[in-house]
Amino acid sequence: MSTFQAPKGTYDLIPPNSATYLAVREAIAAPLRNSGYGYIETPGFENVELFARGVGESTDIVTKEMYAFETKGGDRLALRPEGTASVLRAALEANLHKGGNLPVKLWYSGSYYRYERPQKGRYRHFSQVGAEAIGAEDPALDAELIILAHQAYRSLGLRDFRILLNSLGDKECRPVYRAALQDFLRGLELDEDTRRRIEINPLRVLDDKRESVQEQLIGAPMLRDYLCEACKTYHEQVRELLTAAGVAFEDDPKLVRGLDYYTRTTFEFVHDGLGSQSAVGGGGRYDGLSEMIGGPALPSVGWALGVDRTVLALEAEGIALDIPAATSVYAVPLGEEARRVLFGKVTELRLAGVATDFAYGGKGLKNAMKSANRSGARLALVAGERDLAEGVVQLKDLASGEQTPVALDAVVEEVRRALG
Ligand code: AMP
Repeated sequence: MSTFQAPKGTYDLIPPNSATYLAVREAIAAPLRNSGYGYIETPGFENVELFARGVGESTDIVTKEMYAFETKGGDRLALRPEGTASVLRAALEANLHKGGNLPVKLWYSGSYYRYERPQKGRYRHFSQVGAEAIGAEDPALDAELIILAHQAYRSLGLRDFRILLNSLGDKECRPVYRAALQDFLRGLELDEDTRRRIEINPLRVLDDKRESVQEQLIGAPMLRDYLCEACKTYHEQVRELLTAAGVAFEDDPKLVRGLDYYTRTTFEFVHDGLGSQSAVGGGGRYDGLSEMIGGPALPSVGWALGVDRTVLALEAEGIALDIPAATSVYAVPLGEEARRVLFGKVTELRLAGVATDFAYGGKGLKNAMKSANRSGARLALVAGERDLAEGVVQLKDLASGEQTPVALDAVVEEVRRALG
């Protein structure tokens, strides 16, 4: 071990487990690519003000968890704690919304950073795959995103997850509810911090996990009783479309989520095998965010699914993804001349698209064959001086042990045939 370790709250993805992470990212991305979402990549850091305004000045993410710093040039930046604000910023900056082709549908995949108290499933560096549909108000779009996330989890074989669904209302009905909730909360016995939260962001109090708080919240006014007609109708349509698609969900009137920008539809995917960090993904509609960061009115909806927690969910369900071996052919040279010739064949095979590896470092036959087996290859190419003198190499089926000589200039063709 070296003197250095991965920083607190982080971990490294290393083979072979890293293959599972790649496969999870791919499985989440596949339904998006298949549904008109284009790939977007934004910087790992942004102006700190973007998140302060976008995510919300009063959220834990902004007040406690952001890696914010000042550069030598005096810019105030922050490592991105989430994806939506950046993606919307980029879309506005590139005028994607002016192409006359709304909604703009984008997907992304990357690293996010939050200074949180680390525990299983909660890290300071984590990965998300996300999707945003910008510039359309249509319940079918909300439904589409939920259905695609559901499809992604299902394609991985996951079963023990649930979809929680709620509506947070809009700028008509939410303020009325907010005031009613504040009235109710001000009458409770709460600590200083929570009292302050009542004034800044009362909906977040509903999210308080403490038993002593939850007990007092029985009888609190519920947003669903305050939704305006437009929000009610909209929400009902999202629910109908999900039901028609065969996607089961649970109405969760207390689901508020930790970001300020949500309006109307909000949802969370929770997995029942993960203990306290049970949210594997979440999202919702954010009709006001564009204006909050200085853009035009662009009603939008999106989600982000956590790659780390999805991998934990697979483990919890005992699912091992069927990941094909990275290497199909492993070449084992015996001697200097064989090393030159076989290395040439390895390059030829790779150019022909066959995944091939080579026994480097002058290993003996026994060690080299061990490496060949470990690589997961189906075939080995073995050659010594006598083979070369005869103009052949030995093609060995690593499962059956069967070995046949193959003419040097027929190697690519024969390997392809053997691999089927
Ligand atoms: P959020 O933006 O907080 O709704 O996060 C969306 C998803 O990202 C969550 O459901 C988690 O799967 C994942 N996530 C968020 N924060 C963390 C974290 N600190 N560590 C690991 N995964 C996280």
